[in-house]
Amino acid sequence: MLEELKKEVYEANMKLPEYGLVTFTWGNVSGIDREKGLFVIKPSGVDYDKLRPEDMVVMNLAGEKVEGDLNPSSDTKTHVVLYNRFPDIGGVVHTHSPWATSWAQAGRDIPSYGTTHADYIYGRVPCVRNLTAEELEEYEKNTGVLIADHFEAHGLDHIAVPCVLCKNHGPFTWGKDAHEAVHNAVVLEEVAKMAARCEWINPHVEETPQCLQDKHYLRKHGANAYYGQK
Ligand SMILES: [Zn+2]
Repeated sequence: MLEELKKEVYEANMKLPEYGLVTFTWGNVSGIDREKGLFVIKPSGVDYDKLRPEDMVVMNLAGEKVEGDLNPSSDTKTHVVLYNRFPDIGGVVHTHSPWATSWAQAGRDIPSYGTTHADYIYGRVPCVRNLTAEELEEYEKNTGVLIADHFEAHGLDHIAVPCVLCKNHGPFTWGKDAHEAVHNAVVLEEVAKMAARCEWINPHVEETPQCLQDKHYLRKHGANAYYGQK
C-alpha cells in the first residue's frame, strides 16, 4: 500500500543525516496522500543505515496505524495534528538540528536578519511556549495543538512561515510534500546559524527592513513572483 509514497518518505528521511540535521535517530519525516487521507512516517528508533522503504508505517488522520510491522515515530501524534489543522501541507519534518535547536532552547524567535531568511520565511520564525504539566500528559498531541493554536492566535500564515521552534525542544518544518519539508528544515538550520553569528558579530543588529523582506519573499512566492524560470 502507498509504495510510491513510502519510497518518497524513506528518501526524505535519509536526507536528514545526509544534510547533517540529525544525530543517531533524532528526527522524523512524514508525507501524506490527501486523497486517501493516509500518511507515511518513519518507524520509531530505527537507525538510518538500517532503514528500508518497506519499514515506513502507514497511519490515518485519526492517528491509527493502518499498515506496518514497526511502531511509528514517537512524534506521530504531532504530525497528525499538523496535517489536520494545516490541510494544505503534504509533508512534516522534526529534527534536533543544532542551530535551530539552540534558538529553541534559548526560547527565542529567530529574527529575520537577511534575504536568505526572507526568501523562504516571511517574518520571524516563531518559538512557541512550553507545554504546562497538564498539557504534557498528552505531550505529542498537545505539541501539535500548541503550534497550530499559536499560528492562529498570531495570524501567522503557515505557508509563508513553514517552520516553528518548540521551546526547550527543537524545530518542526513542513511543505507541500516530504521533500519540500526537508528542504525547509535545511533552510531553517542555515538561517538559524547565520542569525546566531550575526548577533555575535553585532549585538545591536536590526532586522531586515520590511520593504526588503517583502521584496525577497514576494519575488519568489504569490501571484507576482518572478524568481526562476517560467
Ligand atoms: Zn524531538
